[in-house]
Amino acid sequence: MGVWRMAGMADNLCRLCEIYRQAGDEKTRQMTMRLIEGIPAKERTGEELYAKRLDLCGACKKHAAGTCLSCGCYVELRAAKKGAHCPEGAW
Ligand code: SF4
Repeated sequence: MGVWRMAGMADNLCRLCEIYRQAGDEKTRQMTMRLIEGIPAKERTGEELYAKRLDLCGACKKHAAGTCLSCGCYVELRAAKKGAHCPEGAW
């Protein structure tokens, strides 16, 4: 599994926590987590693939504080759906 780092990222935070630390938006984090939890298990991305997708989003120039500037989605929500894809073809 790749190591995902954003500029200024704290060492002790997971990818998702770091996205929201930088965004500073707790309500958005809670809403997104509820949406991810609402995805049926069979449609949810496996842990390894999910991390890989977020690695790619984290290194992407179109990523800004958890949002994809290409499509406007929350990257961690999009990445959590097994059948989803990156609008720029990164994953
Ligand atoms: S979904 Fe694709 S274009 Fe959007 S931030 Fe992630 S890698 Fe970049």
